[in-house]
Amino acid sequence: LDPTSEHFSPEEMDVERKLRPLSFDDFAGQENVLENLQIFVKAANLRGEALDHTLLHGPPGLGKTTLAHILANELDVDVKVTSGPVLDKPGDLAGLLTNLSERDVLFIDEIHRLSPIVEEYLYSAMEDYKIDIMIETGPNARTVQINLNPFTLVGATTRSGLLTSPMRARFGISSRLQYYNTELLTTIVQRSSGILDVPISMEAAIEIAGRSRGTPRIANALLRRVRDFAQIKGDGNIDIKIAKFALEALNVDAHGLDEMDNRILATLIDKFKGGPVGITTLATAVSESSETIEEVYEPFLIQQGFIIRTPRGREVTEAAYKHLGRIKGGTQGG
Ligand code: ADP
Repeated sequence: LDPTSEHFSPEEMDVERKLRPLSFDDFAGQENVLENLQIFVKAANLRGEALDHTLLHGPPGLGKTTLAHILANELDVDVKVTSGPVLDKPGDLAGLLTNLSERDVLFIDEIHRLSPIVEEYLYSAMEDYKIDIMIETGPNARTVQINLNPFTLVGATTRSGLLTSPMRARFGISSRLQYYNTELLTTIVQRSSGILDVPISMEAAIEIAGRSRGTPRIANALLRRVRDFAQIKGDGNIDIKIAKFALEALNVDAHGLDEMDNRILATLIDKFKGGPVGITTLATAVSESSETIEEVYEPFLIQQGFIIRTPRGREVTEAAYKHLGRIKGGTQGG
């Protein structure tokens, strides 16, 4: 089981789609982000204009794609979905852009992974709703400028630090999504079990929520796996007993930390005596890029109180020793 995985089977994709909130009202949490977006959408609707280009950033599974779809729904327009790595050449992008109707949303996931030429091509589309396209080939080849319908680009990224500044500057709206607390995740788990039509006790919902790494995608993935256990090993109801049994069997960490989270903590403790250690040294030791550590792993570990950032680098807290069952100042390994 890898609940953080973005690669789902077709059936899982279907479930995933069913569980996806479709309106602002269905979307739990992220109050500050939502409040602003709701105002901007209302204003755009009133004026009959396209919403300003919107950048959504934050760790995976927190609702960026969901929000892009909600924005389109609330604007009452269509959404076209693509992603940075898929857009190979400007031609791919031109095809998408010229097919947008007025005020439509174009969602580009992993927008930090656009190739520089595609990115540059996007600039004039975003700024003036104009693009140059090449017509004919050989000696008759020439470019013509065509006008696009006013549209909204919604870009999502887990790595806002990797976005170029010209790209960043072209977004009128920029929102950062935060990890969800257990209470919010509990309401998400309850909502999802309602949609999946599986009875769940409050206690069980809290248990699943607490082990979901602050992430709705993981909460939903765990719920689906626990549901399997409830159906095969129980009577179909998810109570605290079956939830605990299933989560144990699935090897889900008590705090929902994933393998890399735990590796980071263990490395800090075993190799660096708990720190402080610089991010690049830590990154090398766990074989991950320092950007990914800073943008995907560290924020959650800090939020959970396992790591603190000091001027001299990252340091683990007592809670990390306790979590890994180590003794502070003890011998290496374990
Ligand atoms: P991202 O694009 O940030 O990786 P997604 O939008 O794909 O994340 O969200 C993953 C899943 O988590 C969605 O399919 C949806 O079911 C669920 N989800 C995300 N945010 C929320 C939320 N605020 N309320 C309820 N469910 C959510």
